[in-house]
Amino acid sequence: MQTWQVGNFKITKVHELPIEVGLLDGLIPELTPEAVREIDWLYPDYVNESGQILADLHSFVIDNGEHVILTDAGCGNGKSYPMQPIWSDLDTPFLERLQEAGYGRDDIDIILCTHAHLDHVGWFSMRDEEGKWVPTFPNARLVMVRDEYERHLSQIVETGEVQDVSDAAGDDDVDLIARAFHPDTSALSNQTRLIQEESFQPIVDAGRLELVPTDGQVVPGVRYESTPGHTTAHHSIRLDSDGATAFVTGDAFHHPIQIARPDWSSQGDWDGGASARSRRAVLESCAGTDLLFMGTHFAGITAGYIVEDGEGFRLVESRPPSVERR
Ligand SMILES: [Zn+2]
Repeated sequence: MQTWQVGNFKITKVHELPIEVGLLDGLIPELTPEAVREIDWLYPDYVNESGQILADLHSFVIDNGEHVILTDAGCGNGKSYPMQPIWSDLDTPFLERLQEAGYGRDDIDIILCTHAHLDHVGWFSMRDEEGKWVPTFPNARLVMVRDEYERHLSQIVETGEVQDVSDAAGDDDVDLIARAFHPDTSALSNQTRLIQEESFQPIVDAGRLELVPTDGQVVPGVRYESTPGHTTAHHSIRLDSDGATAFVTGDAFHHPIQIARPDWSSQGDWDGGASARSRRAVLESCAGTDLLFMGTHFAGITAGYIVEDGEGFRLVESRPPSVERR
């Protein structure tokens, strides 16, 4: 179990599942095996020997003794994701791993969500013994940025009849990246409606959804930081405790190669130009500091410190020596 201490915050990584090798091929068009060979620090945690990028799905538990915060919430078990069938109907031991980290379902009191994509919301809810969707963490409130929640809801459109796009699930020829990120309006609407029903609605019905303004504070030392581009209202998370700081990327960064090459945007970004500007601004602000930079989809060591490196930046495992800890 990987843990970090940031001031009074103890942060634990809870693994959900690896992103299968090859699944992200084409996600970042410039990212080829030849291109990654030039960036030696990506090996072996973030790229394998044949030049394929590695990534995973995990949550962070942020615990300061007063609050136990989960961010983000992965794919969940048993969910319906016609646009990403490989992550449908999962049965991972995520809750057992959370328990191994010392946290039961009752212990989480706040859930944060950088953006409402399917791989960040799944554990909001789970099936009870009768098969009904209920909040996974009964004592938690979901605190998210209003604009991002409304963006998500706006994708649900009336298309007449609900399309069943699950037929394509067994088709090997389907381009997963294209299906996930360039769906037609009705496929996207159908997927979003399922996410709403299976993940968000049980929390809404329990009166536990709390919407905050852009850049809003959640509790002292924890706030959302606007990093638009992946979605219109994507927010990363900034932690501040006793002079120590950390930054949880969300999908402002999909892969650490975007630290070395901030201008390489993901096909999944709503606006690649905006996401590149968000990345560069974040990297410039934290380069050479002792801010702990934590990747939401980064495999391996997952977190580190940003230093300048040529025209881009680099993620290093130990705190830069020039930085004096307070
Ligand atoms: Zn994601």
